[in-house]
Amino acid sequence: MKTETKFSDPTITATGEKRAWVDLTALKTLWFNTGTLCNLACVNCYIESTPKNDALVYLTHGEVITYLNEIAKEDYPTEEIGITGGEPFMNPDIIPIIEECLERGFKLLVLTNAMRPMMKYEDDLLRLKDTYASALTLRISVDHFKRERHEEERGPRSWEPMVLGLKWLSNHDFTIDIAGRTLWGEEESELRQGFDTFLKQHNIKIDAHDKKQLMLFPEMDENVPVPEITTACWGILNVDPDDMMCASSRMVVKRKGDEKLSVMACTLLAYDQQFNMGKSLKEASKAIHLNHPHCSKFCVLGGGACSISEA
Ligand code: SF4
Ligand code: SF4
Repeated sequence: MKTETKFSDPTITATGEKRAWVDLTALKTLWFNTGTLCNLACVNCYIESTPKNDALVYLTHGEVITYLNEIAKEDYPTEEIGITGGEPFMNPDIIPIIEECLERGFKLLVLTNAMRPMMKYEDDLLRLKDTYASALTLRISVDHFKRERHEEERGPRSWEPMVLGLKWLSNHDFTIDIAGRTLWGEEESELRQGFDTFLKQHNIKIDAHDKKQLMLFPEMDENVPVPEITTACWGILNVDPDDMMCASSRMVVKRKGDEKLSVMACTLLAYDQQFNMGKSLKEASKAIHLNHPHCSKFCVLGGGACSISEA
């Protein structure tokens, strides 16, 4: 049966074929969105964060504990916790949340813009690094190695505080990496070379030629038309559904006005209610039908299997 438009029926594509789905193979990574408020209002922020957008409100330490307890109770094979926002360091519970995850033995990745909200916690961060060493990684958003381009996205006066934060982290031997963008159409080699020069100039200990230390994320332009993914696509494209982010991760959010938290299919679809999988991790273990353009463009066709870039 054909449907009227693309991405309308969760199980059937507009051409009447069976829509592809992804099973959760194992919950390896659990993300917490600690709230959408941010000190910046970047032009292309995928989650539309601003200093005023509290569509996803702050998670509390107690709420995070509930999910970490569920991981323990259900004996999920979760190895890593990811923390994203907004700017996570705006959340008043951020340090207890970070400490809770590390204390329980998880690897922890925190996405941040490394500006003033993070720098307010210098002492806490140094203590956490001394206790947990490389179990804690901070991923810093540096949109471009040139100030003008970074500020074109992030607004005036966003460059210097970021460089200051990045240098501080590097000088104190934190485990850090960088999330860059590919918005301006340069070749990857050109971007890596530009970042290499910038990082060396500031004596920042990150290898710009290492794909894990400098991650360059594809853009998610919702206006570009994309094909729908059918069950036949996996074979045709030679893509394994188990490599999709939603095969091994989920994201916990708290929507403004909701009493309970929600577990979303992935970090890329924080607002779309058809990807709200339930209140608990157990409820959220169901298969996910790829009924969103991001599924095609970013994951199946774009190979964006490495979680998210932004803070
Ligand atoms: S956007 Fe990607 S990770 Fe999210 S549900 Fe779609 S395929 Fe899965
Ligand atoms: S991209 Fe990051 S720093 Fe910019 S508004 Fe969004 S969450 Fe904030």
